[in-house]
Amino acid sequence: MKTAFISHPDTLLHVMDGQHPESPARINSIKQAVMHSPIHKNLQYFDAPLATRQQLTLAHQAEYVDSIYAKSPKAGLVRLDADTAMGPHSLEATLRASGAAILATDLVMRGQVKNAFCCTRPPGHHAGQKNSAGFCIFNHVAVAAMHLLTHYTIKRVAIIDFDVHHGDGTEDIFRDNPAVMLCSTFQHPFYPHKGANTRTDRMINIPLKAGTDSVGFRKSVVDEFTPALNRFKPEVLLISAGFDAHSQDPLANLALEVDDFAWMTQYSTEQASKFCRGRLISCLEGGYHLQYLAESVAAHIKVLTEST
Ligand SMILES: [Zn+2]
Repeated sequence: MKTAFISHPDTLLHVMDGQHPESPARINSIKQAVMHSPIHKNLQYFDAPLATRQQLTLAHQAEYVDSIYAKSPKAGLVRLDADTAMGPHSLEATLRASGAAILATDLVMRGQVKNAFCCTRPPGHHAGQKNSAGFCIFNHVAVAAMHLLTHYTIKRVAIIDFDVHHGDGTEDIFRDNPAVMLCSTFQHPFYPHKGANTRTDRMINIPLKAGTDSVGFRKSVVDEFTPALNRFKPEVLLISAGFDAHSQDPLANLALEVDDFAWMTQYSTEQASKFCRGRLISCLEGGYHLQYLAESVAAHIKVLTEST
């Protein structure tokens, strides 16, 4: 079986302003790297559908979802928070990103693909039950997790989040839901200034000091994530796949390299094999150095295609 690669041209139409680091160029650089790599032939390509209001309200408050539909502008930009804005096509882009995560779960659950990568934007993991934040409008992994728990006989879902920023929106949505575990590594102290003091037996928050490199990162994952996953025994694994912990990323200060993202992916596929019959769905979050984002995503997908 192949790995699903799910995207949509609408993901290029969300533009916050000309200089914003969360730009359409991110998707283009990833697609260029994938198309020119041998992994291309091991992928099955899908267009992301639009998520529905009903699917979004599994993870988000209905009032919040409705407010986003209502704010979608015909022209110009509408600011949602200090870091996030919507243009005329942003609603479609974020609905495609959530729709990709839902399609990915359906393809994996039906056994049509072995795992899936959603190449979409805007990212999602800072979006909470009733708020946008940090470039995120709707929380795609959270929508996928709720889709799994609602439409399949799945009782436990784990989310691994290796974005350099804490997945505070995901924590907000699942803090009180015993069916979901979040395993999140993040630079601290750093945006969004949450997570360091809110660890529970399901919210496995691992703050990392600026400058943390391969050795410290890998040790934290093995020492902290492994016992938690062994205890929780997830049935499906979701990944909030951010690549902004790369040493050259312009927005953050960790010191990971492309090999570390390949290692993290290998770790994740091993956990998925151990607990989840290999069922793994990965959604793009951050990563703002175009070249290293593309190389890191290509390395991530290569490991997904090689997993058994
Ligand atoms: Zn990030």
